[in-house]
Amino acid sequence: MSSAVRHAVCYVGDNLDKLAEEKARAILCEAGQAIPCEVCRSCRKVQNKSHPDLIWVREYKVKEIREIVAAASVRPNDGGFKVYIFAGADTMRAECQNALLKFTEEPPDYVRIIFTAKSPDLLLDTIKSRLAFINAGSGEVEINAELLETARNFVTALVEKNEYAAACALSHIKTRDDLSAVLDLITGEMNVRRDAIGVQYTEAQKFLLNCTDDLKFNPNIVLLCTHITAEICDKLRI
Ligand SMILES: [Zn+2]
Repeated sequence: MSSAVRHAVCYVGDNLDKLAEEKARAILCEAGQAIPCEVCRSCRKVQNKSHPDLIWVREYKVKEIREIVAAASVRPNDGGFKVYIFAGADTMRAECQNALLKFTEEPPDYVRIIFTAKSPDLLLDTIKSRLAFINAGSGEVEINAELLETARNFVTALVEKNEYAAACALSHIKTRDDLSAVLDLITGEMNVRRDAIGVQYTEAQKFLLNCTDDLKFNPNIVLLCTHITAEICDKLRI
C-alpha cells in the first residue's frame, strides 16, 4: 500500500527546498516508509533531479499554473504518486492561488502537494483552509526523536486498544507546533501499522486529516490532545 500522507501540506519557515525535496522523496520512495530509503531507483532519481513525477514550481504565472494543473491529470510515469512542490507559495498573487484552488481541494488521488511559505498569512483563506500547516522552522530535515517516540507510543496504544495509554502518550505535548508535528508522525505510523489497527483505520486517518482546523482554533493544547485521543479511539471503536 502506498504511504498515506495529507494530500496538501504547507511547510512554514525559511530555506525549505531541501526539506520539501526530502518529503517528496519519502512519498515517491519505493520502500514506502516515512523516511526515504536512499537507495531505490526513485530515491536516486530525486537526488539526481531527474524524477519525472516530482514537479517543482517556483515561478507563478496564471497561464503556467493552469497548464500544470491540466497536466496533473496524466497519471504518474514511474510509481504511485506525482508530487508537486510549490516553493515560496506565499509569493503567489491571488489570481495564481485561485487557479490552484480546485487542485488543492480535490487533486487526483495520486497527487501530493507540498507548499513552502515564509509568511503563510499571505495565502488566501480559501487556500489555507485546504492545507495542513507544519512549522518547519529553520528547515532541518531531522525528525525530532522524542516526538517520533510519542507518535509511536500513541499508535502502539491504539493497536493495543488502550485509550488510557494513548492519552498518556500525548500528555506531555506542550506546544501547537509539537502537536502538529506529532499528528503528522502519527499519520505515518498508523499507515505503517494499518493492518494491526484494523478496518476502522481509514476513518481515523480521515479524522487526523481534518484536525488542522482544531489546531488553528483551539488554544488549549491539553484539551485538544484529550479531544483528539477520544475521537480517534471512538473512530477505532476502542
Ligand atoms: Zn527509496
